[in-house]
Parts: sequence; C-alpha cells; structure tokens
Amino acid sequence: MKNQIPVHKNEYYEMDIHSMGHEGEGVGRIENFTVFVPHALPGDRVKVKIVKTKNTYAYGKLIEIVNPSEHRVDPVCPSHIKCGGCQLQHLAYSEQLELKKQKVVDNLQRIGKLEDVVVHDTIGMEKPMRYRNKVQFPVGRDENTGKVKVGFYAPRSHDIIETDVCQIQHEINDSIIEKLKLWMEENNVSAYQEKTRKGLVRHIFTRVGFATGEIMVVLVANGAKIPNPQQFIDAMRSVNDKVKSIILNVNTKATNVVLGQENRLLWGTESIIDYIGDVKFHISPMSFYQVNPVQTEVLYNKALECAQLNGDETVFDLYCGIGTISLFLARNAKKVVGVEIVAEAIEDAKQNAALNDIHNVEFHVGAAEEVIPKLYNQGYTADVVVVDPPRKGCDEALLDTIAKMQVDRIVYVSCNPSTLARDLRYLEDRGYKTIDVQPVDMFPHTAHVETVILMTRCGQNDK
Ligand code: SAH
Repeated sequence: MKNQIPVHKNEYYEMDIHSMGHEGEGVGRIENFTVFVPHALPGDRVKVKIVKTKNTYAYGKLIEIVNPSEHRVDPVCPSHIKCGGCQLQHLAYSEQLELKKQKVVDNLQRIGKLEDVVVHDTIGMEKPMRYRNKVQFPVGRDENTGKVKVGFYAPRSHDIIETDVCQIQHEINDSIIEKLKLWMEENNVSAYQEKTRKGLVRHIFTRVGFATGEIMVVLVANGAKIPNPQQFIDAMRSVNDKVKSIILNVNTKATNVVLGQENRLLWGTESIIDYIGDVKFHISPMSFYQVNPVQTEVLYNKALECAQLNGDETVFDLYCGIGTISLFLARNAKKVVGVEIVAEAIEDAKQNAALNDIHNVEFHVGAAEEVIPKLYNQGYTADVVVVDPPRKGCDEALLDTIAKMQVDRIVYVSCNPSTLARDLRYLEDRGYKTIDVQPVDMFPHTAHVETVILMTRCGQNDK
C-alpha cells in the first residue's frame, strides 16, 4: 500500500482545501489522497509541508496561503493560532454557521443514509463573543523572567499561552486575572510546576451567572493555605460588587483534573445562582453547567418545541446531568423522569427541582442503557423521550428499548453529528422518522456543532 501514497514527508505541495474536518482543520486532496491541514479553510489554495503520512491520509503544515478563501477574516485574538481554543476565528461567522450545517448534512447523508431530510440553517448568536460563563485557566511563572503567566495550554502541550484578554470569555475575567497576577507578584506567591509538583497556585476558575450577574472565583491551589488571604479576598471583591463567592479549592494530586475534592470558603456564599429561562439553578464549583447560557436557552426551547407537550405526557430525559432539560420541560408535562450516570449530578438535580418548587420530576442514577430497560420491565413507559448523550452517542440497548416502548416522539440533542447519524439510522430502521433537524451554535469560533432532532413514530418496529 505504502508505495501508492502520492505525498512524502517533509516535501512541499500546493493544494486546494475543499472542506472542514472534525476539529476545524482544512481538508483537501493531492492526487486524490486526503490531506488534513490545520488552520487552512475551505476555499483556500495553500502551500503545505507534509508532516505525517498514514496509509489513507496525511497531515500537512500550512506554509503559505497562495489564494485565500473569500470568507477569511482577521481573527480578533492575537493568540488565535498559538492557543488553539478557537479553531475558526479566521472564518467569517456567517460561514462558520454554514459549515456547521454542512457538517450535519454530510454526516446524515454519509453515515445515516438520510438523503432527503431537510436540515435548517444553524441558529447562531447575534453577538458571538464573550459567551462563556466558565473559565479555567492554568497559572504558571515564566521560566526565564519569573513573571506570573495565566492563559490557555497550547494545543497538545502544557505550555501556558498568556491570555490577558480572551474574547470568548465574560469580560469580568480580564480584571480577575489582572488582580490575581498583582496579588501573586506582591506576595511572592509561587505557581505550581507539574514536573516537580512544587509551587502553590495551579488554576484560576471562575463562573458567572449571565442572568443574575453573580460571580464565583475559585483559586485552585496545591495546599490548603494561601499567603495574605485577606488581600486576595479584597482584590477579588474589588473587581465587581457582584462577586458573591470566593473559594479556595485544594488539589494536591498529580493530575490533569482541574479541581480537587476539597473546597474551603474564603468569603461569601458556597454557590451562586443563575437562571435558564425561568428555571433557577444553584451552581457550586463542582456542578456541571452549560457554558454558553444564551444558546442553551435557544437549544432547550427548540427541544421543548420538538417535544410538543400539552401537559399530559410522561417524558424521559436521558443523560440529564443536573436536570436542566428535565426542569425546563416539567412545567409543560405530566411527569418527567431524568436518568444520569453521575450520582452528584442527580443530587444537584433533586435540589434544583426543590429550589424551583417543581414536584412532577423523578431522578434515577445509573447508565441510561441499564436503567431504562429495567424501568420498562417494571411497566414504566413514556410518551416522549429526550436524549442528550456524550460524544459517543447512545447505546444500542437503550435505542432498542425506546423503540420497543413505541414512544410517540424522540428528541435527540447531539454534540456529535457522526454518532447522531448512526443512531438516527438505527431508529429509522425501527419505525421512526426524522422530521426536524436544527443545528445550534453553542460554541462560536470552534468546530463544535450541537443539533436538536425530532423523530416521530410512523411504523412498526420490524427488528
Ligand atoms: N442534559 C444535560 C447534560 C448533557 S451532557 C444538560 O443539558 O445539561 C451528557 C451527560 O450524560 C453527562 O452529564 C454525563 O455524565 C452523562 N452520561 C454519560 N454516559 C451516560 C450513560 N451511559 N447513562 C446516563 N448518563 C450518562
């Protein structure tokens, strides 16, 4: 096989980029052989140096843009290439939305064999900047100058790329980072070093309730004490009077997991409050919470619309996290049953239900593919099922049970179009039809696309 590969490592080629790969990289062909080129865009003609070859594809490094795509724009962030957080900042936003839609269409056709399903235009953000409510930035000190560095890890490394201003984070983080640096410099506070496992400050982690403005600041440290804590508290409080919670998180383990198990309240309350629509949530450092609250509401409203509830239905909300979708749907349903594998998330879900005075919900801990067949055997059934699985999609045992239950409608919320397409095919073969496909842009400037799908039952399950 190998001698048929038309490109060679370390050699230079010119090529056209025709589409976008999973991680936002450009994809093109050289003599019909697929080459992935990070940072290149569909419509570009580029010069590349081949850096890696495999049997069926190769990777090229972008050397020069010979002819740019008409949709190229200047990225707003100077660290755009180095940081890797935003893969598509150099592409006009309208075109990002178009490419995401195309990604869904391609997957539904190629993997799902769903040829004539209409995919709507991606719902984007009016202002696709400053949309994230959560930051977790590593903190280090420059090896040469000793100056405090706060930012992102460069792609596939743990080198910190300084990020004084990050355009996709809430503005408030810019001042939090500035004050943190000042406190560290003035008090000579050390930063954690992964190699030696010495040094104190590991990460700065913040959360902002977009609806309430409430702010939580969590300093993640390799120890239970910090120098001059009062100055740290004063510095953080001086950022904004909406700072409600200042927490020291203790993480002394050699791990990539950001937060340790122990939280020490330095000042204020242990959690902050936010709303999605009119549902209220307590958010603590550990809670899972969607990071783009504006688009989350758009996504959930679309899920609600697809569910077509009139108040008489029993709804299963599977992969429910802290019950956000369950609570969002509960006021329009007779009953909602949420299932989630993480026990702490279910604890949060129950608390959130109580906080909102919502009583027609019930939550189960466990894998959806185990809990649902069990509930079905006990006689439970649903009119509508919502699934919102992680990237690997749904387990066949779960899809089989949903089909056996003959639920009227399935609302599939997906963060991965390829597993989505596979699962839709599986359900189409068992009596369901894909009716509505709506991509929603939850993560502008990245290659991620979220999709809400409505399926309805139209035939017999003949499997
Ligand atoms: N619906 C929620 C969370 C979606 S994220 C929201 O909108 O906020 C996907 C969730 O699926 C995560 O909370 C993860 O813990 C959970 N999960 C992963 N595998 C699971 C499984 N096999 N069964 C049930 N839940 C699972």
